[in-house]
Amino acid sequence: MARTRPAEVTGYRNDGVGTAVALINAVTTAESPAETLGPLLASFNFKVDVPLTSDEVEALATWARGLRPVFVEDDQERAIGLLNEVMVDVPMQPHISDHGLGPHLHYGRPGAGLVDRVRANTAVALAFVLCEYGGGRLGVCADAGCERVYADISRGPRRRYCSKTCLNRNTVAAYRARRSVPQGEGPA
Ligand SMILES: [Zn+2]
Ligand SMILES: [Zn+2]
Repeated sequence: MARTRPAEVTGYRNDGVGTAVALINAVTTAESPAETLGPLLASFNFKVDVPLTSDEVEALATWARGLRPVFVEDDQERAIGLLNEVMVDVPMQPHISDHGLGPHLHYGRPGAGLVDRVRANTAVALAFVLCEYGGGRLGVCADAGCERVYADISRGPRRRYCSKTCLNRNTVAAYRARRSVPQGEGPA
């Protein structure tokens, strides 16, 4: 599974933006079964007791499906509205924690279960992206056959593809399409 470098946009030691993207892609594309959510979250530094219960898997899938429209929506105001709608149900109680990583901010309640920790962490991380970078930085891959979402918090020009693989495939296709356009008709 492709991982971007952890981004410190939230000041949290977990990469909440990366977690949201990976979780949504795992749940809403056919490429990874729900059973992989435990290891996936562990790879983002969440403390996970494996295997996840079926209730946890279902709750995480529901959460991911609720977050996806925020990526689909390009308009900042509407994206904010969508995120606010799902965020309202997430129990939040910001507090500083350490657990061996150095002091850092947790957004969920102390002792919260995995699902609420993931919900709080990903919701706040995406909120930071929407506020600081605008709605166009959370997107769905421009490849016609790809359903994956991405978050683009780089300084460069806006990204449109989920991965280098999709970018390269489309760059090659666009090049071939240009080359196959008939050259006649123009002035000699
Ligand atoms: Zn922590
Ligand atoms: Zn893609």
